[in-house]
Amino acid sequence: MPIITRRKLLLASAGGLIISLTPFARASTGADIVASRIWPATAYTRVTLESTSPIQYKYFQLTAPNRLVIDIQGEANNQVLRELSQKVLPLDPYIASVRIGQFNPETIRIVMDLKTTVNPQIFTLQPVANFKNRLVIDLYPSTSVALAQEANDPLMALLQDYSHGKINSDGTTLAQAAAPTPPVPTTPAAKPPVIDQTPLPSKSNTNKRQPVIMIDPGHGGEDPGATGPSGLHEKNVVLAIAREVKKQLDAQGYRTYMTRNEDIFIPLGVRVAKARKLKADLFMSIHADAFTNPSAKGTGVYALNPKGATSAAAKYLAQTQNAADAIGGVQYSSDKNVNNTLFDLTQTATINDSLKLGKIMLNHLGQINKLHKGTVDQANFAVLKAPDIPSILIETAFISNPTEEKLLSTDAFRQKAATSIANGVKDYLSGAVLARR
Ligand SMILES: [Zn+2]
Repeated sequence: MPIITRRKLLLASAGGLIISLTPFARASTGADIVASRIWPATAYTRVTLESTSPIQYKYFQLTAPNRLVIDIQGEANNQVLRELSQKVLPLDPYIASVRIGQFNPETIRIVMDLKTTVNPQIFTLQPVANFKNRLVIDLYPSTSVALAQEANDPLMALLQDYSHGKINSDGTTLAQAAAPTPPVPTTPAAKPPVIDQTPLPSKSNTNKRQPVIMIDPGHGGEDPGATGPSGLHEKNVVLAIAREVKKQLDAQGYRTYMTRNEDIFIPLGVRVAKARKLKADLFMSIHADAFTNPSAKGTGVYALNPKGATSAAAKYLAQTQNAADAIGGVQYSSDKNVNNTLFDLTQTATINDSLKLGKIMLNHLGQINKLHKGTVDQANFAVLKAPDIPSILIETAFISNPTEEKLLSTDAFRQKAATSIANGVKDYLSGAVLARR
């Protein structure tokens, strides 16, 4: 056959070696790629391969033009892997195209043609939840590109820090953790209201700092959150509600930010770090609840309890939500503990403010849906750990309940939920201002 003859010639002239030309060389391990995904986003693009066995890999970069080459050993080149090429979207900020070929009988070569220089972070993850062995290829912008983008979004720099292992679970950086800022030297009871320096926007006070509100849509990217009986994903519902909250608060002159505004996985510690970097006055994580029993229903609001939980249900919920990092896939486990005793005084006052905010929020949300429980429950939620920012987690409704899943799928309910949340924020902030007078 002329084609093989030509290929033999090429191989012979290129390397002086003729390797096996078995057309469907299959690795002896029997490992199979069972899923391939690409999550393009401004902050970073993630490529995930999932295999029945741990994935062995090597990689290197080439310039002019920019390429990232990943060699995978012991996996068969199958349809799932080849489909990766078709999953590149034109809007992907980093990947122009992906080519996949059998480099030698034991090696599959993936070549990513890049649109810009990148800082790749490549790591494997052990099986967790519904995922098998994963190889994660995160393409962050190279430092110079990231610096240019930081002007628009401080998340860029935080993700850069994170990609170098510099962010802790509570949102502090490694430098901060080494020398924690001492707490305000007052007793918790004497601590001024959290927005003491931040009066509401008003015409007479336009030169003063406005309250900063951080809205955190839960989950994203690889981590879908809970999935309803008809297939609705929590990550999409809560992003829609969060965008509406932002829209409504922006329209009233508040300064609002979102931890994510794309279908992207953001580690819990980075969400907290973003709130701290922007000196947020309050932090709201928006979710949709799920339970094994489909009859569980209602809206709930949660605050932090760093040392325990006020109920078994709250403890269970915190565990499932804290699993987001394992499911979404973090390269660095965030177990580097800061010296929590130094934060205790500040944190006690912050938690009191969180409970106040949570109670106000329950009053508003109780007008649009039954409450799961009439009080603010507490547990050790990783995303609520900013020691100095009142933080709550809102479970808008149970996505695992067929009736509430339908509610969550409608624009009408999403808007009502957003209005309740926005009104809760306004009430809380005006209450804090009144308390100061
Ligand atoms: Zn959630």
